[in-house]
Amino acid sequence: MNAYYDILIVGAGHAGAQAAIALRQQKFEGTIGLLGNEKYPPYERPPLSKEYLAGDKPFERILLRPESFWAERNIDLVTGCRVSKVDPMDKSVTLSSDEQISFDKLIWATGGSPRMLDCPGSQARNIHAVRSRADVDKIIAALPKVENVVVVGGGYIGLEASAVLTKLGKKVTVVESLDRVLSRVAGEPLSRFYEDEHRSHGVGVELNATVEGFETNDDGIATAVKLGDGRTLPADMIIVGIGIIPETGPLVAAGAVAGNGVDVDQHCRTSLDDVYAIGDCAAHSNRYAGGALIRLESVQNANDQAKVAALDIIGEDCSYDSVPWFWSNQFDLKLQTVGISAGFDDAVVRGDPKNRSFSVIYFRDDKVIALDCVNATKDYVQGRKVVVGALALDKEELVNTDIPIKEVGVI
Ligand code: FAD
Repeated sequence: MNAYYDILIVGAGHAGAQAAIALRQQKFEGTIGLLGNEKYPPYERPPLSKEYLAGDKPFERILLRPESFWAERNIDLVTGCRVSKVDPMDKSVTLSSDEQISFDKLIWATGGSPRMLDCPGSQARNIHAVRSRADVDKIIAALPKVENVVVVGGGYIGLEASAVLTKLGKKVTVVESLDRVLSRVAGEPLSRFYEDEHRSHGVGVELNATVEGFETNDDGIATAVKLGDGRTLPADMIIVGIGIIPETGPLVAAGAVAGNGVDVDQHCRTSLDDVYAIGDCAAHSNRYAGGALIRLESVQNANDQAKVAALDIIGEDCSYDSVPWFWSNQFDLKLQTVGISAGFDDAVVRGDPKNRSFSVIYFRDDKVIALDCVNATKDYVQGRKVVVGALALDKEELVNTDIPIKEVGVI
């Protein structure tokens, strides 16, 4: 590790790794330090709740690049080190080991830490998050002795974990505090479809259900989840998937403007000179959300913001304006989404959910703003252009699956 880097990247996840890669792809020849507090080289996070948890992909196959890549590109990857302080005037960071590293430009790419529950029994050792390889390795190691799993949170990560664990023969119950799963990210038809799918695979789905606490034994192990309505669910393992808290502490302490994440402009610059923020921790104004300041938690956003920051650093004119996209695999269902459905005022379903291949198309002011496509890749591919163009498609034609989306008339 050097005492100075031209570009210092903090956080060696999707965004940080991609920023280093993009800088070298742009022929940037200065020194690059890529610091991460996990002990592994950069790896893909999505398989953690999918193929890696299922045991279908070993860790080597989810590395973002082969281990030798970083040194070959003259990128100084330093694992197992946490940045605890940023001094923007001095242009330096301090590690938790007290070492100091100076920089010319800093890219903050620290993602988020899993939000956990704070209630009686919530410190039990068998309550797990699904954010890092270490989290999932703990789950995998414990699984042989587990029969009943309670998954708290019916979002994508909770549902993906639930699908995998059900397939592995565990008895899974999903506990969701709202009245439907995926309620923060999708419309009712998609929520009900996934609820039915999980139920039909034997998953218990408890809606409008709050967790009041955990019953624990003398060894500090949770044995049951206590719900707000007085019921208890037996559990040998609890998985909590209720979102993340952006890891922005040192930047906020350094004076960066922040709210829900560090605020960045369209070049991914923070309010601090020569300090960028990208990925899950960065709040940006997104035109697909009507210009609202949002954080996107997706590989698309991490990669695209990384490229924008890299281009801005080398002096290329580039703004972040990418169309958001995302995917989720549950059972044999591949969901692909494009756009942001929040704030929709109408939605149509194209295809029959009973056939397990359909799309939900979201409108605002009669213009298409997003699509959720289940086993319907053609709709997803053709729908991208519709979202980018905010086209006002004819809804009657749109629900006719004989007409490809690209041939649906604009009104
Ligand atoms: P991360 O990848 O989280 O990387 C941040 C890194 O910074 C971490 O290694 C962290 O340990 C490190 N760090 C934090 N603080 C410090 C510090 N102070 N000093 C040093 N290092 C620090 N997205 C999709 O598009 N599709 C999916 O199907 C999908 N599935 C997912 C499944 C799971 C289980 C998870 C957890 C995420 C999934 N995502 C998915 C989201 C996607 O993985 C994230 O949006 C993406 O990883 C964000 O990249 P990032 O670099 O901002 O953060």
